[in-house]
Amino acid sequence: MNETPHDMHGESGRVLDTVVIGGGQAGLAIAYHLAQQHRDLVILDARERVGDAWRLRWDSLRLFTPAKYDGLPGMPFPGDRLGFPTKDEQADYLETYAERFGLPVRAGVHVDRVRRAGDHFVVEAGARRWEAENVVLATGGHQAPRVPGFAGRLATSVLQVHSSDYRNPAQLRPGPVLVVGMGNSGAEIALDVSGTHATTIAGTPGGELPVRHGRAAARFVLPLVRFAGLHVLTLGTPIGRRVLPKLAGRAAPLIRTKVADLDAAGVVRVGRVVDVRDGLPVTAEGTPLEVANVIWCTGYRDDLAWVDLPVFDEGGTLVQHRGLVDPVPGLYVIGQDFMYAVTSATLPGLSRDATYLARRMRGRRTAPSTTGAATAATAATAANVRR
Ligand code: FAD
Repeated sequence: MNETPHDMHGESGRVLDTVVIGGGQAGLAIAYHLAQQHRDLVILDARERVGDAWRLRWDSLRLFTPAKYDGLPGMPFPGDRLGFPTKDEQADYLETYAERFGLPVRAGVHVDRVRRAGDHFVVEAGARRWEAENVVLATGGHQAPRVPGFAGRLATSVLQVHSSDYRNPAQLRPGPVLVVGMGNSGAEIALDVSGTHATTIAGTPGGELPVRHGRAAARFVLPLVRFAGLHVLTLGTPIGRRVLPKLAGRAAPLIRTKVADLDAAGVVRVGRVVDVRDGLPVTAEGTPLEVANVIWCTGYRDDLAWVDLPVFDEGGTLVQHRGLVDPVPGLYVIGQDFMYAVTSATLPGLSRDATYLARRMRGRRTAPSTTGAATAATAATAANVRR
């Protein structure tokens, strides 16, 4: 079949063992293991630079997970284990990781279709395409910003921005700010803007970490939280199977910024914003909020419409079990919210999920590759073991 001219093939026209779509931490973690299995693989990422998913988040962001949990397989996060890296340090760590293990990331490639052709997959990005025996979806759970429909009716005099596009207070207009949503992003961004703008936050938090976040918590409390997130709240335990579906879609507890911090900074708290009237946001109590800026910290929705395969249930959810997409053998997913544990979309849960998935993928592979990535991953791991 002559579907696409040879020179439009992404990798010299050969059928690869695996294409990993997404070169964030999830894509890199699984690619590390696959490279160790000497697979012929490539990682495709829409962004220009490895780590950009972190780099392009707001300027003051620090991870809430301590460095001891922020490393990927084969390379601990360097430095103070109880410190909390900045988003740029995490981004740079990922870039170094990809380089160190020679992981073959093709940057600036936005995949717009994955389909089946005969006995293999075809991955398309505009006119370019890759063919592979296996495909891993590692595009993260934070791709499509979610804003309420009534956002479109805000007056044009009100600047509105989703948390994914918020960087710092300088990008806002003079005048009051409304932050909608009281999850971790909302609370942290409200605190960030409260120094320069009169700030209101709308919503109700889903609880709080009951201790002060910081080094002591990293030493004594976060290990317990991590243990529960890795071993209790999983689809492998009765309690996890009961609780996980209820947690999905609900605001996570506030981890670093507490309600008391917002109060101390003079941030005004109101209930949910439910509508827009006369161009202004309105609370459930019917109170219009006279603001010049709205920052939507209202989360994200899945955006896998470009996966042209019969892998979604009636609700549009990808059918998977611990990363194996059973309806289509050879298709895998990693890094999705709650895909096995409450920690699956975070750094502490990722390494375990990647190790499991790589083991399950081991049975399904083509001839070993002798590419630089495989050799680099093996050599670097040997160096780690020797240290
Ligand atoms: P991403 O980092 O989003 O990477 C996905 C990659 O896929 C991107 O590089 C993107 O360009 C690429 N991609 C997407 N679609 C396509 C496509 N169609 N074609 C090609 N490439 C594509 N977790 C923690 O453990 N600790 C924290 O402190 C922490 N803080 C967080 C703070 C914020 C504000 C947010 C939003 C999340 C935080 N998380 C944290 C959760 C999680 O660790 C991060 O969201 C992390 O970036 C997820 O990694 P990922 O690789 O799954 O997805």
